[in-house]
Order: sequence, then C-alpha cells, then structure tokens
Amino acid sequence: MTIAWLVSLGLVVATAFGAPPDGCPSCSATALCAQHQKEESAAVAELVPKLKSKDAFERQSTVSKLAGLDLARPIGPSAEIAKLVAGMVDDEKAIVRTEAVKSLGGGMHPDVAVPAIAECLGATMKELAKIPFGRGDWSPPGAANDDPKAAERRKQREELYAVAGAAIAALRQLPDDRSVAALVEALPQWSRWHEEQLRATTEALMALRARKGVEAVIQRIKVAPVGDAGSKWGGPDKSGAMLRDVVARAIQPMEIEPLPEWNDKEAPDWEKWFAKNQKHFAAKLGKCSLEEMKKAQAGERP
Ligand SMILES: [Zn+2]
Repeated sequence: MTIAWLVSLGLVVATAFGAPPDGCPSCSATALCAQHQKEESAAVAELVPKLKSKDAFERQSTVSKLAGLDLARPIGPSAEIAKLVAGMVDDEKAIVRTEAVKSLGGGMHPDVAVPAIAECLGATMKELAKIPFGRGDWSPPGAANDDPKAAERRKQREELYAVAGAAIAALRQLPDDRSVAALVEALPQWSRWHEEQLRATTEALMALRARKGVEAVIQRIKVAPVGDAGSKWGGPDKSGAMLRDVVARAIQPMEIEPLPEWNDKEAPDWEKWFAKNQKHFAAKLGKCSLEEMKKAQAGERP
C-alpha cells in the first residue's frame, strides 16, 4: 500500500464525513453512534448506484471510495461494505476487478475479503488458461505487430496478470487456509514465462508459512528442469534455481536446516529436506481473524 494511496483515501474519507470521525466520544468500540451511522449510511447509499455505472472508471473510483469509507470507520471494517466491494471482483473490466481486489486486501473485513480474493484468483487463472496462443503472441509488449488479434490477446493477458498480481499480493497478507489453497492451485500454472507471477506466488506461499504451501513450492522446484540448455523456444529454463533462492531467503530468519543448493547437474533430494523440516510450518492456518490480518499487514511475523 503506497503512502499516496493512503493520503488519497484519507481525502475521500474526510470529504465523505465532513470531519474525521476519529475520537468521536459517542461511538463505542463496537458500534457507531447514531450520527456517524446516519452519515455512513448516507455516504454508502450515494455510492451504491455508481457501482452500476456504464463508465468503468466511475465504477473503479466508487470501489476506491467505499474502501476509503470503510478504512475510516472508528470501530474497524464493516463486512457489509466489504460485500459491496466483493461484488465487483468479477466486473467485466479488469481495472475494476484489480481495484476491488486491492481494496479488499487493504484492510477490509477478512470474512468477506479472503473468499472473494481467493475466488477471484481462481477465476482469473481459468480465464488466462482459456486465451489461446497463436503466432505473434510472444512479441514484446508494444512491439509493432500486424496481427490485431494477437495484440488483443496480449492486452487481455496483461490485464489479467494485473488482477492476479493484486490477488497474490493481497492473499500473502491474509493468513488463512483458503489463501494458501488458492495460491497452491495457481502455482503450477505459472510457467517459466511468467517469472514475475511465479516469484510472487512463491514468495506469498513462503510468507504464509503453511505446510501445504511450502510443500507445493518444493514440488514446483522438483519438477523444474535441471541443467536445461534451452531450445528454439527460448533460453535455458532457470525457474528451479530462481525458486530455490526465493525459498532459501524466506527461511533465513527461521531456525531450520538450510535448503540444499541448486545443482545444475543433479537435483538434490528436495522431498527429503521437506520431510525433515515440515514441522516448522503450520499444518493449519484456520480462518484469518481481524487481529491476524492487522498483524500480517503491519508486517509482524506469525
Ligand atoms: Zn460517532
């Protein structure tokens, strides 16, 4: 979450409420006072119809305003406001979906945020798998291309990568078995050609420190080619060595046996390392509570 984004949220919120609601003597720890409840209901009622605007940019900014309203509540996030935002993760436009996922992952209620983001990642992966590859798809983005269909497919993919990237970043900070399951399911679909997403998914799984997640990462390293020399399709596949380094870095602060070095001639016994060390990773994370979400988002380790 960037400072600029927080500042812009603050502005939206201050405008919506007239004055910052922090420190209201009438709001309790669990309920808004009548005045703040009325102001919030009015602000939400004004925004809801705009979620159906024909203009995607208006839908996007409405999602962001709802998130701002939610973040400013003196009593913590509202599951009701989160549901309105969660309803936008399957918007027809990727920019709206991305905004909804970022908003949900930026401190909205985890009861709603976790399943919504997890489902969104699954749906995005399915949609990506459906886009066919054809001639011209591998040209670098922005390169001259006389095939408008290939250009359209590339644009579609880039937009879906943005949605998936936002979902991966959000799930990383929502310690929950459903976050792990969604990331584990996505992992094998990211090939060597998706280095950014492959790395981000692996880093998220390692940050969550769930046994199933780490196991999936170790399996992914195990299936990566050893000593690949490249082919007419491209240079050597280095994804195994890259992932091995991501894991080694992630476990550095832990009291755990170091991960074997990558070996370009002969693969180490990754499964043996996992069998010996799996006890260091939680068998279950359970459901992410509000408190756990706050800790994870504040960067405190579980
Ligand atoms: Zn109040």
